[in-house]
Amino acid sequence: MPTEIPHFVNGTRVSGRSGRTAPVFNPATGEETGAVALANRDEVEAAVAGARAVFPAWAATPPLRRARILNKFLAILEERIDTLAALITAEHGKVLSDAKGEVLRGLEVVEFATGAPQLLKGEVTENVGTRVDSHSLRQPLGVVAGITPFNFPAMVPMWMFPVALACGNCFVLKPSERDPSAALLIAEWLTEAGLPDGVFQVVQGDKEAVDALLHSPGISAVSFVGSTPIARYIYATATAQGKRAQCLGGAKNHMIVMPDADMDQAVDALMGAAYGSAGERCMAVSVAVPVGERTADALIERLIPKIRALKVGPGTDPDSEMGPLVTKQHYEKVRGYIDQGVAEGAELLVDGRDLKLQGYEGGYFLGGSLFDRVTPEMRIYKEEIFGPVLAVTRAPDYATAARLINEHEFGNGTAIFTRDGDAAREFAHQIEVGMVGINVPIPVPMAFHSFGGWKASLFGDHHMHGPEGVRFYTRLKTITTRWPTGIRAGADFVMPTMQ
Ligand code: NAD
Repeated sequence: MPTEIPHFVNGTRVSGRSGRTAPVFNPATGEETGAVALANRDEVEAAVAGARAVFPAWAATPPLRRARILNKFLAILEERIDTLAALITAEHGKVLSDAKGEVLRGLEVVEFATGAPQLLKGEVTENVGTRVDSHSLRQPLGVVAGITPFNFPAMVPMWMFPVALACGNCFVLKPSERDPSAALLIAEWLTEAGLPDGVFQVVQGDKEAVDALLHSPGISAVSFVGSTPIARYIYATATAQGKRAQCLGGAKNHMIVMPDADMDQAVDALMGAAYGSAGERCMAVSVAVPVGERTADALIERLIPKIRALKVGPGTDPDSEMGPLVTKQHYEKVRGYIDQGVAEGAELLVDGRDLKLQGYEGGYFLGGSLFDRVTPEMRIYKEEIFGPVLAVTRAPDYATAARLINEHEFGNGTAIFTRDGDAAREFAHQIEVGMVGINVPIPVPMAFHSFGGWKASLFGDHHMHGPEGVRFYTRLKTITTRWPTGIRAGADFVMPTMQ
């Protein structure tokens, strides 16, 4: 019997009562390792009610005290990073060093959030009118929900809850049902750090749980990260219910390689950005755009042997550079895209479809694939594949390369590799993408900046973490004050002015 993966409500693990579960697999072996509970509406409502009950006390807790709890959580995370990384590898499949990297990037947001007292400082103006003062402050929203994808089971929740909690909100997390265990460990460590019961809840589930959160009157705001069709749906549904929403969607990140680029540096950058975490990253580079035929030929000549030499294996093997895909279904989908690319007439220069790993025949492994002469009409260009498949789309000049990016549906991340400062500046200025790298392939902003894309990669007005995160998880109140002076001016029926 696979072990049950439960919810975490009011400070403790709680078994599912809906009678529905979903299987969880070890992607390296294909073995079913767990059965995650799938919450129904009543279970979601119970978790939301538990959070609402403790919200007033948590919101009234001084920010410094909230920050101290996050500081303790930070210490626990640092000490036990290997335990969390191992759990991520067991359910997601990514290599251990990458799983650790994910936790470290999430941890930076916890560090940012420990600055809550500074982040929540308001603004004061003395004498907005005679003997009248004004101050603005930011207050928490209430109970907020986070709905997260499979590809970063620790980091993406950590983009959200440290800032939400630091600002005085309670948080209900609905993790991906494909790798749901990391969330439970995080919840337990938060409790150990001193977080009051109910402030952080985990409800496991699928669409039923998500819909219950979206329609729950107890939820004030929704943060979502996942694929674009679901992001669009969550944004429309949450905002129609009067909730604040930030919904990050899918991506198709292009990297322009200019003729003057350091080619070795560009090739190394592409290898990590395209094939790291088996391409299952929203900031993965999936399209390389070399400018000019000579640049394209030089790039491909260097890429092919490196892709063939990629060390694909279980995430637990320290020699592996790339692990398996997350599920059998996702493996089939990515394979299907490679078939599609061949059918569409792209040139498949490296074919990762027939990789066999001795001892891991049941695992969801694909080798790295490389397509050349991919054109903008092809489905493998337009759609997000989310696997270890790199497309090369050749451009005759910089203007064509930039136009490709600006005309694409998605606008999450992009990069240019060049030695030309003028071209780089022009690119940063006019490219219609939220996160831009200059000789940096995966320009994920640090925790004290904010993360988010443009176009179909983000629905809503706020990016995540950093200053935008604080704005998202708080609402502004402005207070105008006058104290009695003994001077009476009588009633005034005119709009108040400074006169
Ligand atoms: P997904 O959209 O399938 O699932 C995301 C979440 O939505 C999960 O918690 C899932 O349970 C829930 N969900 C799925 N179907 C639903 C439905 N019909 N109704 C309501 N809820 C539903 O995404 P995924 O496959 O887990 O993750 C991969 C996707 O996430 C990729 O598209 C990737 O680009 C994207 N992603 C984006 C970012 C970003 O910052 N923009 C970051 C990470 C991942």
